[in-house]
Amino acid sequence: MAAFEIIDHEYDAVVVGAGGAGLRATFGMVQAGLRTACVTKVFPTRSHTVAAQGGIGAALGNMAEDSWQWHMYDTVKGSDWLGDQDAIEYMCREAIPAVYELEHQGVPFSRTKDGKIYQRPFGGHMRNFGEAPVQRACAAADRTGHAILHTLYSQSLRYKAEFFVEYVAIDLIIEDGECRGVVAWCLEDGKIHRFKAHNTVLATGGYGRAYFSCTSAHTCTGDGNGMVTRAGLALQDMEFVQFHPTGIYGSGCLITEGARGEGGYLTNSQGERFMERYAPNAKDLASRDVVSRAMTIEIREGRGVGPGKDHIHLHLEHLGADVLHAQLPGITETAKIFSGVDATKDPIPVLPTVHYNMGGIPTNYRAEVLAPTKDDPDRVFPGLMAVGECGCVSVHGANRLGTNSLLDIVVFGRAAAIRATELVKPGTKHRPLRKDADEMALSRLERLRTANGSRLTSEIRMDLQKAMQRDAAVFRTEESLQEGCKAVTAIAGQMKDIKLVDRSLVYNTDLAEALELENLMACALTTIHGAEARKESRGAHAREDFPKRDDANWMKHTLAKVDENNKVTLDYRPVHTYTLTDEVSYIEPQERVY
Ligand SMILES: Cc1cc2nc3c(=O)[nH]c(=O)nc-3n(C[C@H](O)[C@H](O)[C@H](O)COP(=O)(O)OP(=O)(O)OC[C@H]3O[C@@H](n4cnc5c(N)ncnc54)[C@H](O)[C@@H]3O)c2cc1C
Repeated sequence: MAAFEIIDHEYDAVVVGAGGAGLRATFGMVQAGLRTACVTKVFPTRSHTVAAQGGIGAALGNMAEDSWQWHMYDTVKGSDWLGDQDAIEYMCREAIPAVYELEHQGVPFSRTKDGKIYQRPFGGHMRNFGEAPVQRACAAADRTGHAILHTLYSQSLRYKAEFFVEYVAIDLIIEDGECRGVVAWCLEDGKIHRFKAHNTVLATGGYGRAYFSCTSAHTCTGDGNGMVTRAGLALQDMEFVQFHPTGIYGSGCLITEGARGEGGYLTNSQGERFMERYAPNAKDLASRDVVSRAMTIEIREGRGVGPGKDHIHLHLEHLGADVLHAQLPGITETAKIFSGVDATKDPIPVLPTVHYNMGGIPTNYRAEVLAPTKDDPDRVFPGLMAVGECGCVSVHGANRLGTNSLLDIVVFGRAAAIRATELVKPGTKHRPLRKDADEMALSRLERLRTANGSRLTSEIRMDLQKAMQRDAAVFRTEESLQEGCKAVTAIAGQMKDIKLVDRSLVYNTDLAEALELENLMACALTTIHGAEARKESRGAHAREDFPKRDDANWMKHTLAKVDENNKVTLDYRPVHTYTLTDEVSYIEPQERVY
């Protein structure tokens, strides 16, 4: 093995990731007196959160009457009854103080005429338990994520959080059934850093890059999920992958749902507003899985637009240049750059595109990672937390509502900080680590650094992305999923034959991408196997051979483990069918219509 130069650190807590979730957790812990390190592979304000456009959901009631109970109802319904209702109650109730907290910290929200936070309608958010759309998405024009991320970063600096920027976390340090910290590789000088911590928080974001066409950043490679599987823990509900209805045709860049919230609508080749047929009530503002499926059916039945009849039109031109420039300036620009269309004059070509991962690392509403057993499905794994898109609380269940992720990262980032201060006394002494504590991380780094097979990282990655796009798509069948299981397992096997060209440790992006690809593999394997096993349709998981939701057999969370031979083992745990308090009662399953 190469002689790695190793540097040891001791902290009360370490957070991996500096997106919205990681930053909120980091400064919350520092504020409470915990010495906290935040390790991130990209500069904090380059995290994917910066790209969020439409808004953050909270029942402030600034535009019309609203309540957090309605928000909770919509979220449970949106989740297709796979969400844990205790966690959903927590999130929707905490949403209101969370958004005011962001406002006071400096997020420059757009304003109503009388100076209140501006709110726009978004898919699936309704008034009075599903009656009609409500304006609940708090927005800073169409750059809400940008505004929130920069504010959270400046708050972190204010509280003097310690950042380790362009450090790639490789693996967790696990000893005697608990997490003791994390091992990271510094890109700038190639040194290895061992962060010993009483509490480790994973906030590494989603894994959209397991697919060929996605809206997420190139850095969204499921690194935290990969670390968890290598620690022998399970991932939850990975088969639920959200397709956003309006990715720009070709590039996959996102046009926010806020565009339909402001009055935009979709048409097919006959100029028909087809959503009126699929969702007579909510129309273009039905929830994302519903709209994505409707668009896919229109295209399949020959009513797609364009020379290949393979996409759909999104109309904004009727809104007028003034509204577009005031409320949707970012996407007007994006449409121009990535499709050449002037949205003030012509419709934008769009297609359902992978956007969000509902599944991830199972946690409770305090952000503690779960290692369920048969006797205790809610057993906590000591020393480890997960927040944000890498986590699965589960508030989004089988399908996330727009604006609920920016909310999730802020509310549960804060919850992680609150729980950490209950669990860890500042300055608590560290026991020494075992000699081989970094063995898992370093042998992995070394194996890839010296890999001398025949296939480039980029080639294997492309095979994976194409297979996932083809076999784990908007609509799924037994056939496509079995094909997919075989294909993805075979592609994962090719990691043994990977070839790296650069052997150095300093800014070796070849090596960083190989590490990321290994994480994507774990995500893809658990996604496709979980999907194959789930014989029902629920939320984003649409089986043509099992078109109905089956609560009797499938109202349960999937748990998926992967071993070193890429073998996936599945298990299940119950959905929480209870609330946190008696201010609201359990919402009984109903048919989901919009
Ligand atoms: C284009 C787009 C628009 C969106 N719009 C909205 C919206 O309007 N409203 C809404 O609610 N949601 C929206 N979402 C979803 C939401 O923005 C994301 O789910 C959320 O921001 C994820 O935040 P996060 O903190 O979990 O992860 P991210 O913001 O992705 O941050 C991940 C962090 O982890 C770090 N990291 C990852 N791996 C490693 C590693 N190995 N070592 C060290 N660091 C690592 C990265 O450096 C980064 O700092 C949108 C998503 C996209 C893609």
